[in-house]
Amino acid sequence: MATYEYRCQQDGSFDTTLPIGTAGTAARCPRCGGPAARVFSAPRLTRTPTPLRHAIDRAERSAETPDVVTRVPARHPVGWSSNPAHARLPRW
Ligand SMILES: [Zn+2]
Repeated sequence: MATYEYRCQQDGSFDTTLPIGTAGTAARCPRCGGPAARVFSAPRLTRTPTPLRHAIDRAERSAETPDVVTRVPARHPVGWSSNPAHARLPRW
């Protein structure tokens, strides 16, 4: 088995594991289902962690086509916490 890298124009890079020699020049993107071209890179020499690479890809995409929000993000009150144990604490 070998890990092959593909890049979707919309969603960025993703890896897939296939038997050696069976990777095609394109694959289907797991997020949008669109075509993704195979990317050739040196194996494991300058490997960037996948979350970091995705963050870099998102930053590069947002430079020209920023993500569009459809509503204002919710504001949390001061002292808000997602920890349910904090809800039992006394309030001032
Ligand atoms: Zn995609």
